[in-house]
Order: sequence, then C-alpha cells, then structure tokens
Amino acid sequence: MTQKIYEDDSYLYEFTATVVSCREVSSGLFDIELDRTAFFPEGGGQYADKGTINGLDVITVSEKDDVILHRVCEPIPAGTAVSGIVDREMRFLRMQNHTGEHLVSGIIHSEFGYNNVGFNFDDKKVTLIVDGPLTDEQITDIENKANEAVFRNAAVTAYYPDAETLASLDYRSKLENIQNVRIVNIEGYDTCACCAPHLKGTAEIGLIKIIGRASDRGGTRLLIVCGRLALEDYQNKHKAVRDIMAALAVKEEETAAAVKKMSADLLEERKRNSDLLCRMAAMQLRTPERSAGGILYAFTDGAGCNELITCLNDMTVESGVTCLLLSGNDEKGYFFVMSNKDASLRQDWDKISSAVKINGGGDDHFRQGKCRSTKEEILSALNKTD
Ligand SMILES: [Zn+2]
Repeated sequence: MTQKIYEDDSYLYEFTATVVSCREVSSGLFDIELDRTAFFPEGGGQYADKGTINGLDVITVSEKDDVILHRVCEPIPAGTAVSGIVDREMRFLRMQNHTGEHLVSGIIHSEFGYNNVGFNFDDKKVTLIVDGPLTDEQITDIENKANEAVFRNAAVTAYYPDAETLASLDYRSKLENIQNVRIVNIEGYDTCACCAPHLKGTAEIGLIKIIGRASDRGGTRLLIVCGRLALEDYQNKHKAVRDIMAALAVKEEETAAAVKKMSADLLEERKRNSDLLCRMAAMQLRTPERSAGGILYAFTDGAGCNELITCLNDMTVESGVTCLLLSGNDEKGYFFVMSNKDASLRQDWDKISSAVKINGGGDDHFRQGKCRSTKEEILSALNKTD
C-alpha cells in the first residue's frame, strides 16, 4: 500500500521516497512502486500528475489495490532513495478546475436536486453533465452563486469518516457499503466523495465561468473554465472584441449590433450582386457570335441553367441554325444549353463533343450539361472548319 502524500497535503510538490519495487512492463518501460508519493494517479475524471522521479519523466501514474505505480523509461532498483517532483503548474491548474467543478456541482445539487452524471477535465476546460434541464438564466444564477463562494473563500477539507459517520452523512456520489470513503467538503456548499487533490479554500479557484451549455439526453452539458483557464479565456475574448472594435471602428458596447448590421448589409449586397450578374449575363447571351462552322454562341459567367434556357428561348434564330449558350469560367467549368429548333443538332454536337470534355443529356433538338474544357478549347472546337 502506497502512502498518498497528496491526500494530506495537495500543495507538496517535491518529496523523497524509497523504491519498493521496479518491474519492466514492456521493452524500455518500467513501473516503479514507492513507499510514499505525491503523484496523483488518474481517477475521478482527472488525469494523472506529470513530473519526474530522480530526473526521469513520469509517463503515467496508475493505481491498483492501493498501490500507486509510476511509469518511467529506466529501471530504479528496489531500495533506492529517490526524489520526486510533481509538475506544480499543471497540478494547481487542475486543482482550480476540479475544486471549481465540486462547487458548481454542489450548487446545482442544492438548488435543483440534479446529480453530476459525467465529469471530464482535459486541461482546457471542465465538461460537467447534470441530469436535469437548465435555462440560460438559471446558469447565470449558478455562475453568480459559485463566484460568490469564491469571494467568501469557503474552506475545503478532505477526510475519511468512520462507518457510522459516513452512514449518517448526506453527500453527493453516495457510495454504499464501501470502506475508506474519502469525503471532500466545501463549507456551506458541497459534500462529495472524491479521491483527488483539491485546493484548501475556494478563493484559490479564482474566476469561475460557464462558457458553454447544451442539452444532453434530458440533462445539461456544461463547459466550465476556472482560475488561470478563465483568465486565458477572458484575455482571448477581450482580444477578439478589441479586433472587432478596430475593424469596424465602433465602441465596445456597439460591437454586437455592428456585427449584426454588417451581416445583414452583406446579405443584401450579395443579393444585389447576384441580380446584377444575372442581368449582365442576360445581356451577354443576347448578343451571340457566329462560329466558323455557323453555330451561334455566347459566353457569360454567373447565369444558371434556368437563365440560359430563358435566354435561349428568347433568341431569334434563322431556321436550321444551332445555338450554344455557356455560363462559367475555366476554373469551375461551364454550364451549357444547346438547341436547334428546326433541324437535328447531332452533327454539331458530335463535332464539339469530340474535341472538348463535355457531358450532357437531351435529344436531337436540345441538350444541356457541363463542359470542363477551357474557353479557348471550346472556341477552337466551335471554329473548326473541316
Ligand atoms: Zn474531487
């Protein structure tokens, strides 16, 4: 059984210990058991601590049957005195977010009776799932209460109650008939069973911000950032607002309205642009040229198949002449419509389709489709005179 230093002192980042055993688990990887450790193994939704033992990087930390194993890439013989260093910055950031999660879960439980049914901390944010619905207003209220608790610096304590005390205790994550249940209490806010290291007071959590909400199988999934992560989130969002202010030349309080107005203006401009393109295309299509082979043709860009057909129907063409209208560009390819009202267009179609990459359907008097050749290649095919 390993003595868990982090349970008594979650702020002790440097420690000495003696190696109890060393086992090679695969080529070049060894699991080191110590008599005592400040390294928290993975558990309760929180990742394992990082750090070093005698200068060797600790790759993972795991626990089985009250024995904690530290995976390193070199053997350390049993009996060796070692010094361990836990990554202080990462541990503190995790404690800020983990203790913040306890506080938010406790407030939701006492206010709404909902249970925490899922928790994950990926070093960027806390994901918390509770088994009931929450509105935006309720979430703002929870956030305000959680930050009030931070301002009050409520004490956080962890202990192992005796079986009788445990049986009478009302706590979250209630465990039945379990020995050695560790209770973490936030004075006045939450009591919960948990094995991880926590802060000693809520003030150290720093700002608690709920940055996302989504429905989750009848419950609610919340994304939360605490402490340093909340500061980083604020700095990033502040920079984004400053960038918008500079780009749109507006005051901070005007940014949301200015972006909405710009979005509406853009939609209107796009519609006007589209209308103009269609009108321009119609004008270009109504002044066709005649190829060396006698085909009337016109190019444009921005017209769809329907506009091409409308223009084709409006054209006045001598009897037996084939018309070809195309819309597009060399990069995207060309939509086309082709017709001959009085005679078969097969000969003209065969001549063009043998020279360019063209796919289309239709009959002897009308065809439409897509051409993937360049304008130059299409013109060359049209003007071929053999
Ligand atoms: Zn905990």
